[in-house]
Amino acid sequence: MAFGTHRAAFQHIPRVCLILLALLAPFGAFRPVTAVIDQFLGELRFSAFQRDASQQIAFIAIDKDSLEKIGVWPWPRGIYADILDSLSHFDPKDIFFDIDFSTPSSPQEDAKLAEALDRAGGGVILPIFKQHGKAGELSAVDLTKPIALFSDMAWPAFANVALDDAGLVSRFATSDDAEGLRIQTVATVLAGYEGPDGTFPIDYSIQPTTIPTFSVSDLLAGKIPASSLQGKTIVIGAYATELKDIYPVPVHGAISGPLIHILAAETILQDRLLGAVDQLPLELLLVAAVIAAALAARRVPVLSGVAATGLAIVGMEAAALWLQQSGALILHTGESWTIVLLGLCLFISEKFDFNRFLLRRAMADRRLARTVLQQIIAESSDAVIVFDDRLTIVEASQSAAALWPRKRAEARRLDRTLPADLSSAVERMAENYRTEPGHSLAETIHFSTDEPPTRRYFEASLTISPRVVHLERGGTDQSSFIGSLIVRDRTAQRKYEQELLRLSQTDELTGLLNRREFAVRLARESGPVIVAAVGFHRFEVVAKVLGTMLSDRLLPALADRLRSLPQALLLGRLGPDRFVIAIRDGHAGAAEALAGAVAELFKDPIDLGGSMIPVDVRIGLYRSQANDEPPANSLAYSEAALESACSVSSHWWREFDPALASRQERARRLEHEMRAGLQRGEFFLLYQPQVDLKTGAVVGAEALLRWNHPETGAVSPAEFIPVAEASGFIRDLGRFALVEACRAARQWPSPMSVAVNVSGVQIQAGGLLDDVRHALAESGLAPGRLHLEITESAFVEGSRAVLDLIAVLRDMGLSIALDDFGTGYSSLSYMTSMPLDKLKIDQSFIRRLAATPGNLVIIQSILSLSQGLRLKTVAEGIESQEEWDILRSLGCEEGQGYLFGRPMSTPDLLVCERMRAESPALRAG
Ligand code: C2E
Ligand code: MG
Ligand code: MG
Repeated sequence: MAFGTHRAAFQHIPRVCLILLALLAPFGAFRPVTAVIDQFLGELRFSAFQRDASQQIAFIAIDKDSLEKIGVWPWPRGIYADILDSLSHFDPKDIFFDIDFSTPSSPQEDAKLAEALDRAGGGVILPIFKQHGKAGELSAVDLTKPIALFSDMAWPAFANVALDDAGLVSRFATSDDAEGLRIQTVATVLAGYEGPDGTFPIDYSIQPTTIPTFSVSDLLAGKIPASSLQGKTIVIGAYATELKDIYPVPVHGAISGPLIHILAAETILQDRLLGAVDQLPLELLLVAAVIAAALAARRVPVLSGVAATGLAIVGMEAAALWLQQSGALILHTGESWTIVLLGLCLFISEKFDFNRFLLRRAMADRRLARTVLQQIIAESSDAVIVFDDRLTIVEASQSAAALWPRKRAEARRLDRTLPADLSSAVERMAENYRTEPGHSLAETIHFSTDEPPTRRYFEASLTISPRVVHLERGGTDQSSFIGSLIVRDRTAQRKYEQELLRLSQTDELTGLLNRREFAVRLARESGPVIVAAVGFHRFEVVAKVLGTMLSDRLLPALADRLRSLPQALLLGRLGPDRFVIAIRDGHAGAAEALAGAVAELFKDPIDLGGSMIPVDVRIGLYRSQANDEPPANSLAYSEAALESACSVSSHWWREFDPALASRQERARRLEHEMRAGLQRGEFFLLYQPQVDLKTGAVVGAEALLRWNHPETGAVSPAEFIPVAEASGFIRDLGRFALVEACRAARQWPSPMSVAVNVSGVQIQAGGLLDDVRHALAESGLAPGRLHLEITESAFVEGSRAVLDLIAVLRDMGLSIALDDFGTGYSSLSYMTSMPLDKLKIDQSFIRRLAATPGNLVIIQSILSLSQGLRLKTVAEGIESQEEWDILRSLGCEEGQGYLFGRPMSTPDLLVCERMRAESPALRAG
């Protein structure tokens, strides 16, 4: 506000200054300038209308010719006497000698002139001058007048010529005082002036060239015709330049003094005594008029203002000219010029009022901004609609028009253009604004059009803002609002988002829920549920046989079967061959019923393009007890149950058992700790002697892994080996065992062999051959001393490749033993196709050997089979002398057990070997 007031005050400064200057102009504030203008214009006016002399005054010039003819200067006064005499023939009116006769010359010459003056009879005028008597004393003025001899016979007249401020002779006095008398000037005397005293301007429009002028020489020679001078007033004076009687005058440059006198006299004679106009009131009037016009003419274009100024000046000049010409009045227009020009400045300054300049610029900017905005709106890819408080469309993009083509050209109403959802949202917001105006409102609205599948989704940003209109002279008007609607087609984005959501929630291959989403949705279920983890036994083997292409088709087929389960609440995929089902837990037998239903689903093999794939389904069940049970627990428990169902071949489904779960938990922990344990050297091998049952001599030893856990102490291989097998870590452990065992065996007596246990997982995973080669090369052990103990399952799950691998190992010289024979799947007949060297009868048969006669039969048949296949038999777990004896009697070649020695370190083994070699009694038992 303060700024605005100050600006308004500053804005008036030029106006006030210009008006003040204009008001001062009539009072001579610009005199130095106006004088120059007036001088210039005065001369122009004189030259504009030239006048001829009246012919009543003639000039007899002392010219160059006269000077030459007479030959001396100053002339003897007799010459002037001659001139007077010559003139007397013409009967002149008056004669004026513009010659200084103030000093006497020779008496004879002075007498001649005095006599001539006398003869002329008193009609002669002689000049008197006022001049400074003494150089440097300006105050002392002397009167220079003709000597008494002459002045007694002539009229005196002042012949002073005065220069004005501009250094020109422009005015003439009518009379002056001389010794107490009022004496007229030459001009007034010559013109016979009888008016008031004062000065008057000489009218220089009278042309000096039109004054009848004759040379003294011609006069004296009698060459001037009588008519030329008859009855005229005669002026005799200097004309030749060298006489230096020359003065600067307006219009005509420099002219001789006598001519100036004549022109002054002519001015009077021709009634051209130019009067002055009283300019002050006129000029004040002009000031008022000019100021009023300048202030009033703001809307007039600048050029018109300048033209009007020019016209005013021309008009003034015409008037001045006319007054001078016709009314013999002088009008000095210099000040008027100044006033008019100041008026022009005022007019221009009013026109270029700073505020208005800014305003105009702002308006131009606004126009430009609006144009740009219109263009942006028109070409926007989003549909843009701008509307006013009557909900009428003010501006709309082409894209909006394409989206909602207006039914009729005049349909600028939003409700006739927009879809109903959007239109009502706009109306609601407009209503809100009206109840509480002045604040911007914004909202994002989602709406859709059309029906599926061509349904389109839109997002609209709706904004209503107070409309502020800036008026030209300040002040604001908040009468209405302006609304904008930016509508973006989100169909593609929505599809993309939905697809993204689907991908994030489901398994790509089967389309079932993924683990995370299954857990999320399970958490939403209220009431007791049964979660069933479904796995497929030996799926990996099947997948390997089928190859990636077919197994990728197998999984969706499995999922499809699960989908057909009517009671399924949720279906998901947990892992490569693991699915999950949730159902409501209705009754006591619900879990079992579910297991049965799932088993029923997979009763028939799956048809994969002609290949019928049998599916061995396993199910782990968990009954979620509480509603607030974390879904992750439910999943983990059902999977734990599934794991136990998978590990026991006789039970294809299991319900969750907390004890089992804790074992699994420990297994998981071990799996994690084993890796670090191997690196820290917590694993080592012990060696259990293998004995020739006939002689009792130690023929080799079985390497058995031990883990000295830093916290729990010794961990049994029966516990950690299955864990290592499940995680694949058995490959690292097996590699370690091979290298360690071979290194140790190198220190043993050369016939002793070392038997290393090899897991089926090691064979399946590949790399065993490399590991063996590495261990042999690293230790330098002869391949024939290395025996590998492999359990039956390795063969059962094995393919042709497994058999080939074993063949290669045997070709290298290694011996292969089938470990734990009798515990697994292998039937006796199956043995025939196996490339084996040894059969190790599982210790469970030996255990009850003495007590259970049935076992004896089994061992006998095993022994006869192996003898038929030329396999060596090794009996495991011999703890008593009796067992040794029986086995020896049955023809079993080798034995191993606590009776001969527990698993021990290499030094202990070597002691044991030596003792048995040296003591036949010990050997024979
Ligand atoms: P296994 O290969 O059948 O090993 C024989 C097991 O019987 C050893 O148990 C041994 O200590 C035990 N044993 C030997 N004589 C007697 C006896 O007279 N009475 C009794 N009650 N037990 C006897 P250990 O050392 O606990 O090993 C258990 C299983 O762990 C092994 O069975 C083998 O399958 C596996 N294992 C041990 N070391 C390794 C290894 O380096 N690699 C692989 N893959 N498995 C290994
Ligand atoms: Mg073994
Ligand atoms: Mg064994």
